Amino acid sequence: MPARRPTSPPPAADTPALRELALLAHHRLCAAYGAPFLFFSTKDPLSELISALLSHRTKNADSHRAYQQLRTTFPAWEDVRDAPTIDVQRALSACTWPEQKAPRIQAVLREISSRCGDENLPPCSLDFLAEKPIPEARAWLESITGVGPKTSAATLLFSNLRLPAMPVDSHHHRVAQRLGLIGPKVGEGPAHALLAALLPPDWTAQQVYDHHEALMYHGQKCCFFYNPACARCVMLDVCPVGQLAMSN
Ligand code: SF4
Repeated sequence: MPARRPTSPPPAADTPALRELALLAHHRLCAAYGAPFLFFSTKDPLSELISALLSHRTKNADSHRAYQQLRTTFPAWEDVRDAPTIDVQRALSACTWPEQKAPRIQAVLREISSRCGDENLPPCSLDFLAEKPIPEARAWLESITGVGPKTSAATLLFSNLRLPAMPVDSHHHRVAQRLGLIGPKVGEGPAHALLAALLPPDWTAQQVYDHHEALMYHGQKCCFFYNPACARCVMLDVCPVGQLAMSN
């Protein structure tokens, strides 16, 4: 049978119902995939930011190898910033588009240095973001060229800051869209604020992390891009796309 991409769900319904649906998805998917999940990273926020930039449109294993090679070649971030770009590019050869990522990362490090004082000084630590309200910390990061909502949230949540900011990757986004938590035309960027607004504002970083990981795992293991496994999905009874698929 040819691969089939299911049709999009209807536009989003009222917010209280969406909040209830988001919580239901959280509880069912966290149970299905074994939450609480261990945080995979203990990087400081600057290292996490660079790691996130390397991971764009790159397999995890490849971006991890590129990150490790970069750290081995240049032990300090100011060494990366000040090195000949071709040397940084070589260190990033394991990931996609090293010729674009090397100058991009150097530009980000220069921008962070210059905002914190002299651009010839070492890049400042981003630890100060812990003291800011999350929207302010995200705005600070997103004002850096090339840093969007997924990268800013990943920097705050995955790093050792452990702040409850939620990234939305392509799997998370697809599951949320099919469940009807967001409308069919909402892109990954705008989805961040809409999906975060459905979660309890007092959730801890662990709860936000579990929510993201559970929806992401669901996209990887069941709600595939083509031919989602609706018949064995724990969300089938409340999923408009699944209901439609099963009735055809
Ligand atoms: S029923 Fe489950 S697998 Fe099918 S589209 Fe909905 S969330 Fe995805």
